[in-house]
Amino acid sequence: MSGFDVDLFVIGAGSGGVRAARIAASHGAKVIVAEEFRVGGTCVIRGCVPKKLYVYASRFLDEFEDAAGFGWTLTQKPTFDWRMLVDAKEKEITRLSGLYRVNLDKAGVEIIESRAEVIGPHSVRLKADGRVITAKYILVATGGSPHLEPAVPGIEHAISSNELFDLPVFPKRLMVVGGGYIAVEFASAFARLGARVEEVMRADNVLRGFDDDMRAGVRDALAHAGVNFHFGALPTRIEKVADGLRVELSRGKPLIVDQVLVATGRLPHTKGLGLETAGVEMDAKGAVKVDAYSRASAPSIYAVGDVTNRVNLTPVAIREGHAFADTVFGGKDIRVDHADIATAVFTTPELGTVGLTEQQARAQFDIVDIYSAGFRPMKATLSGRAERTLMKIVVDGESDRVLGVHILGHEAGEMAQLLGIAVKMGAKKSDFDATMAVHPTAAEELVTMRTRSARHERGKA
Ligand code: NDP
Repeated sequence: MSGFDVDLFVIGAGSGGVRAARIAASHGAKVIVAEEFRVGGTCVIRGCVPKKLYVYASRFLDEFEDAAGFGWTLTQKPTFDWRMLVDAKEKEITRLSGLYRVNLDKAGVEIIESRAEVIGPHSVRLKADGRVITAKYILVATGGSPHLEPAVPGIEHAISSNELFDLPVFPKRLMVVGGGYIAVEFASAFARLGARVEEVMRADNVLRGFDDDMRAGVRDALAHAGVNFHFGALPTRIEKVADGLRVELSRGKPLIVDQVLVATGRLPHTKGLGLETAGVEMDAKGAVKVDAYSRASAPSIYAVGDVTNRVNLTPVAIREGHAFADTVFGGKDIRVDHADIATAVFTTPELGTVGLTEQQARAQFDIVDIYSAGFRPMKATLSGRAERTLMKIVVDGESDRVLGVHILGHEAGEMAQLLGIAVKMGAKKSDFDATMAVHPTAAEELVTMRTRSARHERGKA
């Protein structure tokens, strides 16, 4: 080591920071990771993991109802205990956070429970005891934080997804502001858990950026589950009243609810980190500007994950952290490929997707072929549930390459993961066609769709 206390100082023990720390240590680096909250980061503590647990909880209601069609009789009306779910969730994330610690320990990484701020290209100061630690490299992996917009009078009465997980009392009347990932996932889960959900958004549909047919499908499924949509509207005032929160909207009547969840995006967590003192450039949103190797404008400082605002997903942060550690400490040369990342939105039903939407493909390719299917899932035949599965394959009409696949239906997230491999490998529609079906499954539809539902040629209506 060349005169520094450590080879690598990681700020933030979330998905990206922990992976980078462990891999760097495995390459022989001396590593410290500092965390001001809980080891595990957003995903484990108040993001993907607890969210998915709550989504599971919300799906039992359908199961109870569907069981009747298969010969089951429930002798008692099922009841839901919010506190029990919150406690069970807490136990699980504490276990996971502990595992992260054990794995860091095993790798020989020192964990410091403190906020750390950069005071120079090679130095950080610990908030807890004022100690200054020098490092050959600093990795900023501080993630992002909820950003509550619009800043209307009374916004302080609203909560973000951080607080929603641990509310002492279940919100029977919940307003959700926003139409992105977080907003639709919580609207879907809380409606099924028994809340009356009012979803307010400035746009005219949910999930901007996703395929239009899937967006419509998510909207319809949520409306069917009882979510009451207010499109083209925003809160203009929130005030505490005797029986809850009174919210005035830019359109429509005021509503009284128990909680207002604002899910209008997240901002990179760089405020007060001292990055400017080390010459690190940030963009207008405060994201650390990095190159393909995640290196910031100061050569000794790198950044991975949501703090860079590239693709804000946990597996991406992990991949970026791994690539950084392998490149800087493992003698490899690895850039992360951010193309064709499969992802899922955990509404009920789920939206699983990889690659280009129909709209994106039509903007980029001369001939785009669309194969689509909409059908009643097999389980719904006996349960009688009114639901539909939607599938769409977007194909380059000239090369036959599959550009994107979009599924709204049960386990669409699981399907998207596997389709991600095919799309990443450059599979053609003919490869899908050559694949034998697994029967009876919903996914078999992906390899049996033969009839093109539309062809779009550039310049032709
Ligand atoms: P998103 O960016 O997905 O959605 C933000 C929503 O807020 C949009 O509906 C947007 O409207 C609206 N909005 C933004 N700014 C304003 C404003 N000033 N006033 C009113 N409305 C506004 O953010 P989320 O908070 O839902 O999620 C943050 C990130 O977390 C996501 O980008 C995603 O990467 C990640 N995530 C991933 C999940 C998954 O993989 N399943 C789950 C949860 C989060 P408009 O459409 O009009 O722009």
